[in-house]
Amino acid sequence: MKEGLLLVISGPAGVGKGSVCKVLCSENPNLYYSVSLTTRSPRPGERDGVNYYFVPEEQFMQLRDEGFLLEWARVHGHYYGTPARRVDEMRKEGRDVILEIDTEGARQVRRNTKDGVFVFLLPPTMQDLLKRIYKRGTDTPAEIQRRFAAAYRELEELGHYDYAVINEEMETAAAHIAAIIVAEKCRIARCQNVLKRLKEEGGNIDLSFNR
Ligand code: 5GP
Repeated sequence: MKEGLLLVISGPAGVGKGSVCKVLCSENPNLYYSVSLTTRSPRPGERDGVNYYFVPEEQFMQLRDEGFLLEWARVHGHYYGTPARRVDEMRKEGRDVILEIDTEGARQVRRNTKDGVFVFLLPPTMQDLLKRIYKRGTDTPAEIQRRFAAAYRELEELGHYDYAVINEEMETAAAHIAAIIVAEKCRIARCQNVLKRLKEEGGNIDLSFNR
C-alpha cells in the first residue's frame, strides 16, 4: 500500500485553520487529523482527546525528552507538540495526515522528514484577520494584541511553504487544499512504483498472443 501524505497546515492565529481542517476532514474520510498535546487550558467547548490532549507542563517535557514528539514549539506562552507514533502508523496505513501546527513546528517537520507538503493559510485582508481574532472573544485585549502582532510576523514565513491558500470562504479554502492533495499524489516522484509495475507488465506481455 502507498504511504499517505504528510500535510502541514500553518497560518496566523484566527485565520480559521481549525474550521478549514474540520470541513476538509469531514469531506475526505481518508484524512487523519493529528491531535496535538498542549499545556494550555481547554477553551469552552474543547474536549480532551478531540481538540487536544491537555497535559501538565511536567508531563509534556517528559514526553518531549523521551522522543515521543515529531515536533514541538512554545506558542503564546504554552507548549504544543505532535505525537510522532500515531502519525507514522496512520501514514503506513495509507491515510493522509494533517498537522495543524505553527511555523516553528513546521520548520522542524521540514528538517526531519523528507516528504511533507506545506500549506500556508492566509486571511483575505489583515483587517479581516483582526476581526476574526476579536470575534473569537475568548482572549483578553492584551492577548488579542499579542496574537495580531505574532500573525503579522508569521507572514514572513510564507516563503518556506509550498502552497498559499486564502481563506475567504472556508468551503473554497478546503476545496483548494483537497486539490493540492490530489496534485501532490500525481507527482512523478510519488508514482515510481506505478511506473515500475507498468514497465514490468509491459515487458512481459506476449504480443503474439494479444494480437
Ligand atoms: P490554539 O491555542 O489557538 O489552539 O493554537 C495556537 C497555535 O498553536 C496555532 O497556531 C496552532 O496551529 C499551534 N499548534 C497547535 N498544535 C500544535 C502542535 O502540535 N505543534 C505546534 N508546533 N504548533 C501547534
